[in-house]
Amino acid sequence: MKCPYCGSIDTRTTNSRPLDSSSVVRRRRECPECAKRFTTYERIEDIPLMVSKTDNQREPFDRNKLRDGIVLACRKRPIDQALIEKIVSEIENELNEYVLEVPSRIIGEKVLKKLLEVDPIAYIRFASVYYQYADIDTFYNEIKRIKEIKEK
Ligand SMILES: [Zn+2]
Repeated sequence: MKCPYCGSIDTRTTNSRPLDSSSVVRRRRECPECAKRFTTYERIEDIPLMVSKTDNQREPFDRNKLRDGIVLACRKRPIDQALIEKIVSEIENELNEYVLEVPSRIIGEKVLKKLLEVDPIAYIRFASVYYQYADIDTFYNEIKRIKEIKEK
């Protein structure tokens, strides 16, 4: 298990206990390198994390799909592949707190938060797909909002 803070491979388990659903085990881990603690959830029987969408449909979480959306938003922007991989890994790691199901909205908001930090254009592109701006005014106001945040 890799430490999400320093990348050290050699983490140790401080305790483990099964959650109410016996197919998932929660482990507290501690990194001997940087001494940070974190929690992992291990899905026994390989149960996929399900993503619930607004129309109540569910689909298994797909790391590639997440990456594709980010890659598309970052096209021709000064964001290298390594940074995109880092964003995908960070989001995937944050999703560990959702054991069986996560709303797609949560994933979308996590992507937007990361993109806002790295590139406003990539953020706007992703947001335009994510929010499916109904009209040009909504879109314009969002751009104005980002501009104000960036200028602070
Ligand atoms: Zn560490």
